[in-house]
Amino acid sequence: MMEYDDIRASVRKLCEEFPGEYWRKLDRDMAYPQGFVDALTQSGFLAALIPAEYGGSGLPLSAAAAILEEIQASGCNGASCHAQMYVMGTVLRHGSEAQKQKYLPGVASGAVRLQAFGVTEPGSGTDTTSIRTFARRDGDRYFINGQKIWTSRAEYSDLMVLLARTTPREEVLKRTDGLSVFIVDMREARKRGLTIRPIRTMMNHSTTELFFDNVEVPAENLIGEEGRGFRYILSGMNAERLLIASECVGDAKWFIAKASAYAKERKVFGRAIGQNQGIQFPLAKAYANMRAAELMVREGLRKYEAGEDCGAEANMAKMLAADASFEAANAAIQTHGGFGFAEEFDIERKFRETRLYQVAPISTNLILSYLAEHVLGLPRSY
Ligand SMILES: Cc1cc2nc3c(=O)[nH]c(=O)nc-3n(C[C@H](O)[C@H](O)[C@H](O)COP(=O)(O)OP(=O)(O)OC[C@H]3O[C@@H](n4cnc5c(N)ncnc54)[C@H](O)[C@@H]3O)c2cc1C
Repeated sequence: MMEYDDIRASVRKLCEEFPGEYWRKLDRDMAYPQGFVDALTQSGFLAALIPAEYGGSGLPLSAAAAILEEIQASGCNGASCHAQMYVMGTVLRHGSEAQKQKYLPGVASGAVRLQAFGVTEPGSGTDTTSIRTFARRDGDRYFINGQKIWTSRAEYSDLMVLLARTTPREEVLKRTDGLSVFIVDMREARKRGLTIRPIRTMMNHSTTELFFDNVEVPAENLIGEEGRGFRYILSGMNAERLLIASECVGDAKWFIAKASAYAKERKVFGRAIGQNQGIQFPLAKAYANMRAAELMVREGLRKYEAGEDCGAEANMAKMLAADASFEAANAAIQTHGGFGFAEEFDIERKFRETRLYQVAPISTNLILSYLAEHVLGLPRSY
């Protein structure tokens, strides 16, 4: 079920149009890969998960995983647009029919971009239920005040899925209650109260911080029921983790292929460096770890698509794949010697890009805590 050979071949073909120099130039200018995202949209890949009745191809999550993995394995960077795949799931699973009719066909055709997901705040970090951004209802509108950080692609998105408090934390029985999810039309919001400030990071990621000053959102943009938003966000997280894990597997494949090719061709002391076990073993080990991560991703996808609980597998897949991609990145730099640091080899750029996934969208420690608590039955540590 997971092979999708035709889709993979088409993604690879598309990615050939966006070689290393394309990404290098963007990286230097910290610019958004608009041409690449447009090509993916036009080819329908970004609408893989949108049901056919709303203009997408209605494919299962494993197809989206295959698409993102191939993008990374081709040396491109899906981080510029991957959010559309999982953010859209929140609208699809919990949105009303009217919301789906209104937004999904535009997202599928590319007329409307749904790339931004506003959860993290500077004051709360991983502790999502302590967010302070507040949406106050007044008649048929909500007024939003607060701040978000690390809202990636906000400048290149028309819509954002936003998590905000609608009942203060002190007034709810469970800290997970009283949070709500909204579709925010950023085109409107930017004219009235929403300020977006880019944050420069070690890789080109178009991430930003957002300031909401009485931003008005129609009540019809509330997704599902008021106060139940945390559950809606949680239900999308397994999909997000499995997709990011697939990207990391793709990155690891790219690093290993690139380093193996170089090791065969680079001659030092009159022989290929790849003849040395000191060069071979780190690559072989990275390969084994990549394959193990890939199998865990597949197991997570299998359970997800069977409607089973895949929380543990999605988390493990994300952790193992992020570790495997970074291990492969490190081995690729070592294999390339000094050239590993040169821009034109693309290794250092991909190295910086893949490092992110040990922190976002969830950091390794929190995955380990999840496994300790929910799989091993150990006491919650925080
Ligand atoms: C480039 C980038 C893009 C991002 N894009 C988005 C986005 O589009 N939308 C969005 O909402 N968010 C986004 N994020 C935010 C990302 O999800 C968070 O950075 C991540 O969840 C970690 O939160 P934090 O940075 O606040 O770290 P903190 O929560 O402050 O944690 C700092 C460190 O402490 C550790 N730690 C915290 N609590 C514990 C504990 N109980 N036990 C053990 N260790 C602990 C963490 O593991 C971490 O290593 C992005 C982040 C980055 C860097």
